[in-house]
Amino acid sequence: MDKITGFLEVGLNEGGEIVVNHPDLKPDENGVGHIVFSANQARHLARLLDKHANQSDMDARERRESEARKAAEAIPVDRDCLVLTDGSPVTADHREIDPSTGQQKGYVVLCEAERQKGFVRPVRRSYVHRTCGMTTSMGLALAETYARDPQFYSGTFCVYCRTHFPLDQFIWSGSNDVLGS
Ligand SMILES: [Zn+2]
Repeated sequence: MDKITGFLEVGLNEGGEIVVNHPDLKPDENGVGHIVFSANQARHLARLLDKHANQSDMDARERRESEARKAAEAIPVDRDCLVLTDGSPVTADHREIDPSTGQQKGYVVLCEAERQKGFVRPVRRSYVHRTCGMTTSMGLALAETYARDPQFYSGTFCVYCRTHFPLDQFIWSGSNDVLGS
């Protein structure tokens, strides 16, 4: 609860609605209660209402995401439905390293149908190599594979080091979450 001039309170109830409490609203001679603000107080109230409205939206989004995650976790991952990142069939030589980039010829991902069964983590597109501090971004199919099945990969590529390393050397950008967790 945030208080305005000591008596007006703004907060959220359990249903995510914004509530304004005024415990001491004295009616005038016509039985009408007034809440009077200076311009600054009115702006402050507007900011408080806006802040709580945003909080309510955020809470609702988190609840929806958590429910979607639980639903996705209930569906076992089929690690046999595999393709390369461009959707083409997995080739025997996809792990061959291209010496000019240090990357593999191709990378295996879960097939589109498997990824569409739902994500147990957010879809995150970039990660930081903790050893060198540099950020690497990846395509959507790879990011969705991590989101569907966080333990699918054992290692990943750093564009700066131009080499693959174990996942525990990397964290998702803007977080402290280690890849694979
Ligand atoms: Zn690196």
